[in-house]
Amino acid sequence: MKKSLSLLFVAAAMFAITSCSGKNEENTSIAAVKAPVESIKWKLVTAWPKNFPGLGKGPETFAEYVNEMSGGRLEVRVYGAGELVPGFEVFDAVSGGSVEMGHAGAYYWKGKMPAAPIFSAIPFGMNATEMNAWLHYGGGMELWRELYAPYGVIPFAGGSSGTQMAGWFKKEINSLEDFQGLKMRIPGLGGEVFKEVGGLPITLTGGELFTALQTGVIDATEWVGPYNDLAFGLHKAATYYYHSGWHEPGTLLEFIVNKAAFEALPTDLQKIVEVATRATNQDMLDEYTARNPNALKQLVEYGTELRALPKDVLDALKVATAKVIKQERANDADFDRIYASYDAFFQEVKAYHKVSEQEYYENRE
Ligand code: CA
Repeated sequence: MKKSLSLLFVAAAMFAITSCSGKNEENTSIAAVKAPVESIKWKLVTAWPKNFPGLGKGPETFAEYVNEMSGGRLEVRVYGAGELVPGFEVFDAVSGGSVEMGHAGAYYWKGKMPAAPIFSAIPFGMNATEMNAWLHYGGGMELWRELYAPYGVIPFAGGSSGTQMAGWFKKEINSLEDFQGLKMRIPGLGGEVFKEVGGLPITLTGGELFTALQTGVIDATEWVGPYNDLAFGLHKAATYYYHSGWHEPGTLLEFIVNKAAFEALPTDLQKIVEVATRATNQDMLDEYTARNPNALKQLVEYGTELRALPKDVLDALKVATAKVIKQERANDADFDRIYASYDAFFQEVKAYHKVSEQEYYENRE
């Protein structure tokens, strides 16, 4: 940490000297203009395999934006899960300062901060548009920064998958009975809700899903949506694809930055980092929205059977969600405080979207 910081200071000092001497020279030669600028090098570790579609493209896009917008003054290099640190250690690596940045999902840090999942997905909660609105115009970002501050980590929105799918099932789900004892890979708060209605939630990393489903270690799994699920070949391991993702209605990802490294940047580079996260955040949602429809069409062509979850299942899941959230609020003061802000915003935006987006979706049919 000390070493990388002192290198940053050297780089900043050298940049300052170069700038000053440039000002004093009356005739700046072409060679001097073209001379390479001193570059600050950042490592960005992710929770995804290198170049993984969708989720993994986000950090690559961010790095490209920063490298180009800064004219090479800030060079961000992306490392996939396991290249420098395992996916589940991204937060600690950024907090400790061995790397400057990370890209992951806030719900991974639930063990450290029970309130963290509010910043990725709440079952039956806000969709991507609503989450972004709460974060950037409803006070959510301030609460997120407060939550991560004791760890010396600054969060930024890092893209969204949009509304996910409910998942892949080997057998049809015709009633709540079919959930009893069902072994399903479903992480986070969604997993706790699933347990409340009689299911057996299992935690597996993405890379383990296909084999676990194919060999019957699990009976069902959720992953992301058609674009990512097709890439994993999940349709080869289960026939029934249920919609929609009640458990992850608009899962948000995160960029996390080491506070000391961020503060050591000149203000223009700080702004470039911030703006590049905002642009990447939107870009990921755009890509999913563009690629999911065709991927779903392909899945159906390959023989996938699309199904909606029965009403009694959804009703039970809603009741269980309220129970799980009540427990989380009682167990953790941060969860209680942050959820109060989330829910106040959600109720207002939900009422508005009922007469705008929702009604329009129905009217355009
Ligand atoms: Ca998911």
